[in-house]
Amino acid sequence: MKLRYLISAFTLFLTLCFLSVWLCAILLGKRQAADDIIQPPPLVSEIPQLPSVPAGISDMIPPSSESSMPESFDPTPLPAEYAEPADDADLVTDIGFEISSTETYPGEYIMVYAYGDIAAAEISVNCPFSRDPVFFEQGERLVALLPIKFTYEPGEYLLTLSAGERTESFTIHLLSKEWQTQNLTVSGEVVEQTIESISANEEYNDKVAPKKSLFEAVPLWDGSFIQPVAGRITTEFGMLRTVNGVPSDRHGGVDIAAPRGTPVAAANGGKVIFAEYIALTGNTVCIEHGMGLKSWYYHMDSLAVAQDDIVLKGQKIGEVGSTGFSTGPHLHWATSVFNVYVNPWSLVEAAPEI
Ligand SMILES: [Zn+2]
Repeated sequence: MKLRYLISAFTLFLTLCFLSVWLCAILLGKRQAADDIIQPPPLVSEIPQLPSVPAGISDMIPPSSESSMPESFDPTPLPAEYAEPADDADLVTDIGFEISSTETYPGEYIMVYAYGDIAAAEISVNCPFSRDPVFFEQGERLVALLPIKFTYEPGEYLLTLSAGERTESFTIHLLSKEWQTQNLTVSGEVVEQTIESISANEEYNDKVAPKKSLFEAVPLWDGSFIQPVAGRITTEFGMLRTVNGVPSDRHGGVDIAAPRGTPVAAANGGKVIFAEYIALTGNTVCIEHGMGLKSWYYHMDSLAVAQDDIVLKGQKIGEVGSTGFSTGPHLHWATSVFNVYVNPWSLVEAAPEI
């Protein structure tokens, strides 16, 4: 009897011990859980950084990985009717236009740039000037030279460019420029054989005028332009002129007086698209430098290049003379964007930024 009582008492003791240990374990566990709940959120700087993903496989991360971002970082979702497919949104925002300057003088050119996944043919232009910009692919963007003829009056002109859903307008402010007048006295014989000669003008229109629309799609120039011959400037670009008292055409280039036979250099690299004697302008060369940008050389004594030659900047193309409509040995040097003459000195200052 006594033994049974002792065994029962011992069993009860063991049970109590076991229960005590169990209760302690539960209480400790709850305490740990409570610690977890009241633990303050880590500071942003303490959030461990995820291991960086090699760039090559970044595309393979499923979109769901973004769901691990804290909620506060998520932008407020738009109502369904405003949400656009991501691809369309990208296309719209990617297309854009830029111009190099909103303020310039008549007779200058400005650069026009188009960005985005578009072809030149997709761009529509509403241009206030005589010649629309023609776009050429240049790496990630499309580039065009926009010439502004020197006859435009000062004022504000609106250029509008469109592609896809995007339309952008630019106001171009043409500043006032004083153009000098020059009165020339030229022998009646020269006038009759050149500017007043129907056949000389027809020859120019047949042979030279069509060259103005030609272009090379890639730029062939190398940095800024050089003055093709040293000498005294006798007529500036854009000057108003009278010939024997009669108002004549504005001067599309620069006249540089130099001794007969002085070598004439190509103002920049390019392709010779005209090299021939014609009555109106004498021995004449035209070089296409790419994207419609051209240089012209008149009145030379002789020619050193032929059509289709590729020339480098500084290469001899002929010699100074007094052929065609000329009163003495000089080089008439002009630059144009297609058929619009632009100020050559601006190209000497800096090459077009493409
Ligand atoms: Zn001239």
